[in-house]
Amino acid sequence: MHLETRALLSNSPGTRHELQVLRYGTPGAAPKAYIQGALHADEVPAMLVTRQLQHKLALLEAQGQLRGEIVLVPFANPIGLSQQMLGQHQGRFDLGDGRNFNRGFADLSQAAADTVQDALGNDAARNTALIRAALRSAADALAPANSADDLRKQLLALAIDADVVLDLHCDTDAVMHLYALTEQRAMAEQLGAALGAQAVLLATDSGGWPFDEACSRPWQLLQQHFAGRPIDLACFAATVELRGEADTSHVLARRDADGLIDFLRRRGVLADAPAAPAPQPLCQATPLAASEPVTAPCAGVVVFHRSSGERVSAGDAIADLVDPASGSITTLRCRSDGVMYARCGSRWAHPGKRLAKIAGTTLSRSGNLLSP
Ligand SMILES: [Zn+2]
Repeated sequence: MHLETRALLSNSPGTRHELQVLRYGTPGAAPKAYIQGALHADEVPAMLVTRQLQHKLALLEAQGQLRGEIVLVPFANPIGLSQQMLGQHQGRFDLGDGRNFNRGFADLSQAAADTVQDALGNDAARNTALIRAALRSAADALAPANSADDLRKQLLALAIDADVVLDLHCDTDAVMHLYALTEQRAMAEQLGAALGAQAVLLATDSGGWPFDEACSRPWQLLQQHFAGRPIDLACFAATVELRGEADTSHVLARRDADGLIDFLRRRGVLADAPAAPAPQPLCQATPLAASEPVTAPCAGVVVFHRSSGERVSAGDAIADLVDPASGSITTLRCRSDGVMYARCGSRWAHPGKRLAKIAGTTLSRSGNLLSP
């Protein structure tokens, strides 16, 4: 393992944030996997899993099991880790400007297209190598003006040429679920099975350029741009939601790290494909556009009728909102059959608050599909 420490651009004299970058295997070896934890810095179970991965990958490396290269960033947001406000940790939004740390990553597809347009040929593998080099150059050429954008640049530059990108997060109160591109359904379901995911949510463009899509979507956009020329979707990227914020457990972290390693074996990053058959999936993938947010129409105290992980049917009561002034109760019912994969953490609702999310199949939302 090679440890590298990278300083982020400082917003002011006398302050410094650093990223740790751990590299396993031979630099440049393929396939390359990139894994980071807690880009939303308050989603701390991810950092337990990256700690477990450090132990396990060091052992595998010592045993000569690394076929490709693995780059691990165990805590991907030192800026967010340092943010406190009124005694509460704030790791999702940059307190400087209110931006979500996992939105606004650069779309490098046009810059890469400009670089490779005269060089692409009829050999898909050669095209992949050309595009990877162009994407690396495009990431290096980004010129961030502040710490958070430098963080975005550096994370993207570390991951942009990987075959597999896994961005480890968690929800507030949730069961294991993940997000990936619609076109990569088979790999998303394989990852979901390895982790015991109860929802696998697919979209071609979820909105807002989160990290995983900044790594995977350029390939899809370049396919469209150069229609007729052979271009593979050479990067599988997923956002993995490791249950809820309170689910810090050594047992779960070890199990999740083992699940990720099983997936990496099946993707050829580690030697010796598992002899055991692939784990049985707990769910089939569903469209993110069909994921139903159960939204509060008014303020009130939230009393849930159902828990994360339960199957629900259209018309089921999900939660009551109790108005403390009048005592009136508003019962919220879902419109979809599916798995309720996440609930909010707070029990006070304001109008418009998302209280729960259901992985359904019948709705067809459009626009920005992710939570703010
Ligand atoms: Zn997150």
